[in-house]
Amino acid sequence: MFADSGRLHIAIQKSGRLSQLSRELLKDAGLRIQNGKNDLVARVENFPIDLMFVRDDDIPTFVSDGVCEFGVVGRNVLEEFALGEAEPRYDVIAPLNFGRCALKLAAPRDAGYAGPASLDGKRIATSYPRLLNRYLSDRGVSAEIVKMNGAVELAPRLGIAPFVCDLVSTGATLEANGLEPVETVLESEALLVRTRKPLSPAKADLAENLMRRIDGVLATQESKYIMLNAPEAALQRISAILP
Ligand code: ATP
Ligand code: ZN
Repeated sequence: MFADSGRLHIAIQKSGRLSQLSRELLKDAGLRIQNGKNDLVARVENFPIDLMFVRDDDIPTFVSDGVCEFGVVGRNVLEEFALGEAEPRYDVIAPLNFGRCALKLAAPRDAGYAGPASLDGKRIATSYPRLLNRYLSDRGVSAEIVKMNGAVELAPRLGIAPFVCDLVSTGATLEANGLEPVETVLESEALLVRTRKPLSPAKADLAENLMRRIDGVLATQESKYIMLNAPEAALQRISAILP
């Protein structure tokens, strides 16, 4: 669709948990994002770059196909996609320090869960059937996976499946539904991914520049600038308590 334009395309989530932080990362990297009316694309004023606002589930496909040269997406979505592919058609450039969550198996609080063997022959609802299937087969468990596209935590109450495998950050949603997390299937966070499709020399230069800028943002997140008024005699004790 955009293959012939000289512009670089970055796919980010249109609206959801990653959208604001993805935009902020790119702004911190020095990209001036135009506030247009078009809700699918926004131009970057100071670089030949367009942002594409899409559903997170589409980002691995767009980056693999090279429709977007870069994307910001959760490891959970990326790995679920990857398990359906023969060969990866993207590279993971960097974890981005946001969007942390975990894909967890959860059991009804009163189920008497005693390890993965308790799942044998049971029904488990999830939006991540491939990741769950890998987890179960690695442990020699055979269960029936019920794919749901949302509201997985309601599956037990709806009588769809007693167990669920869902994304958790605080665990409050599970708890509100009488479920407790029992196993971690995958730890996740937002990732910067890049297509393996070859880029024109001009686009490749721009891609390098973008990655350097994002690296710079990530590096400064790790250091803090502290100013304080203290007697020189206290310097040693102060630096001893600073990490
Ligand atoms: P879309 O409309 O783009 O498909 P979505 O409903 O699939 O949106 P969100 O709920 O916005 O997605 O979550 C996007 C990503 O945020 C998840 O795939 C995951 O990587 C990350 N995330 C971080 N914390 C959580 C959480 N507590 N629950 C769900 N996702 C989380
Ligand atoms: Zn989604």
